[in-house]
Amino acid sequence: MNTYYRMDQLTLVPPLQNEIQQLRQAAASRLKCAPEQFLDLRILKKSLDARKKPELKYVYSVTFALRDIKKAEALLHKKGKSGAMLKRCEPDDHTLPEVNAAIRHPQQRPIIVGSGPAGLFCAYVLAKAGLCPRILERGKDVDARTADVEAFWKGGKLKPDTNVQFGEGGAGTFSDGKLNTQVSGKGGLHAEVLRLFAEYGADAQILYSNKPHIGTDVLKQVVKNMRLDLERMGVEYFFETTFLKPQIRNGKLRGAVLRHADKTAEEWEADTMVLCTGHSARDTFLHLYEAGLAMEQKAFAVGYRVQHLQTRIDLAQYGSGYETKGLPAADYKLTARTASGRGVYSFCMCPGGYVVNASSEAGRLAVNGMSYHDRGAANANAAIVVTVDGSVFGHGLFDGMHFQEQIEERAFLAAQGKIPIERLADLSVHKTEGLAEGIAPQIRGEWQYAPLDGILPQALETDILEAFPVFGRQIQGFDDGDTLLAGVESRTSSPLRILRDENGQSSVEGIFPCGEGAGYAGGITSAAIDGMRSAEQVIGYICNRA
Ligand SMILES: Cc1cc2nc3c(=O)[nH]c(=O)nc-3n(C[C@H](O)[C@H](O)[C@H](O)COP(=O)(O)OP(=O)(O)OC[C@H]3O[C@@H](n4cnc5c(N)ncnc54)[C@H](O)[C@@H]3O)c2cc1C
Repeated sequence: MNTYYRMDQLTLVPPLQNEIQQLRQAAASRLKCAPEQFLDLRILKKSLDARKKPELKYVYSVTFALRDIKKAEALLHKKGKSGAMLKRCEPDDHTLPEVNAAIRHPQQRPIIVGSGPAGLFCAYVLAKAGLCPRILERGKDVDARTADVEAFWKGGKLKPDTNVQFGEGGAGTFSDGKLNTQVSGKGGLHAEVLRLFAEYGADAQILYSNKPHIGTDVLKQVVKNMRLDLERMGVEYFFETTFLKPQIRNGKLRGAVLRHADKTAEEWEADTMVLCTGHSARDTFLHLYEAGLAMEQKAFAVGYRVQHLQTRIDLAQYGSGYETKGLPAADYKLTARTASGRGVYSFCMCPGGYVVNASSEAGRLAVNGMSYHDRGAANANAAIVVTVDGSVFGHGLFDGMHFQEQIEERAFLAAQGKIPIERLADLSVHKTEGLAEGIAPQIRGEWQYAPLDGILPQALETDILEAFPVFGRQIQGFDDGDTLLAGVESRTSSPLRILRDENGQSSVEGIFPCGEGAGYAGGITSAAIDGMRSAEQVIGYICNRA
């Protein structure tokens, strides 16, 4: 059994030739030994340092075994220019909870509502524990869903239960599939989520890249592979089946009322349910509130989705001469504080991607962004959003949700149901000149050049416009008049939080609110981590009950 070591701060200058070979060379020169000494060298972390552009370098942490153990042990405590020459490798895995056979295959198998990242990773942990959960998904399976979404983008009818928000894989399926997260799932759970995405078909680079992404084209296959494996482990999927409301007696869950595709309703007995319904299930929020689940209003952000030529962003981020270095499409993260005191920032940036019509309700229009794995489209896009809370939309429980509905209705009317887009120059002066040469909109969904003013409250529009010159100082040309804006970005996170206690249970025993919709996650990875955590709490609840 080999002993593994870790080395940090190794650097390579792009363009890369043979990455692993080059890393072995670099490690060998640092340890002053022959490259052949290194066994099974793997990349642990990789990031691109562009602080001194155009002089760019990749920075790595690697793991390996060494033929000459004595030499390695001697170097263990030696300090090099950038800290310890060598460290011992510490395993970073997460042990899933075991469940004794007595309660495997329970009478009432847990119900998971929603097959987004939270629902899927929750199902994985429960399935591993032998609890064979049942997944209710109001939308269709990923193939049928893709057909419906593409038909809608080409001008077809919006399907209220199968669209960019709803259906197998959840909201993230038609996305860039960025897997970054701020959530403290570091350590076991975070690594486990990435490991599973890679196991189900995502590019292995996600395991070590500091900006891991999957791409919508690959994500659809990942979701399907995960379904096949979960079904093999006893999980059952019920597509086009909408959870309507819980049946509650004496403060405890006793059943679930659901509606099938043919609109017939049915009631299932159930005493454990994980709610992974996402930020757009507005009807479900109302039903849960009527059923007595405690919830509170939550802040979120709204704005427009901006588009620039990707080459402009690449040049700004990498400096001149980047074209010959084999670099990925560049991204950015921007923030500004405006005179009103509100924060304006870039959100869900999609390099080499498309603006998409991410609506889920008739007469309301919401946009978001998506990229394919290669991030090869001509434009970079991101949401430029401003944080909103009760001070903007009122302090009633559903005021945030209704505010989203209102701005989406205005966006729908702005271009007769098509995505309204406008140049920054026109919006700034509320005059419509029309599209300029040079930047062709990259959009999935029908669009039309139309004024955006009036979709957002004036104060928020002013905040966003005020931030552009600030961003223009951080990225040259970002505030160019030809910059394109599309409306409206309204579903940045949930407008509500369903309250849960330290055991993950809601105000109704047996119901576990989870993921983005419940207000405990923001993004694919954090939702998946929350799904796994909720599953562990469900297992704890079932074990203690047994
Ligand atoms: C276009 C787009 C691009 C995005 N890009 C990224 C990105 O690149 N990186 C990132 O980290 N995040 C991205 N996000 C956000 C990310 O998708 C979400 O944060 C994440 O999917 C939340 O996961 P979830 O499982 O909590 O909820 P969701 O993924 O929203 O899943 C909820 C599921 O529940 C189902 N459902 C809802 N109500 C019911 C009901 N009553 N009965 C049965 N089923 C129901 C829905 O159909 C849906 O499938 C993007 C979102 C969108 C829309």
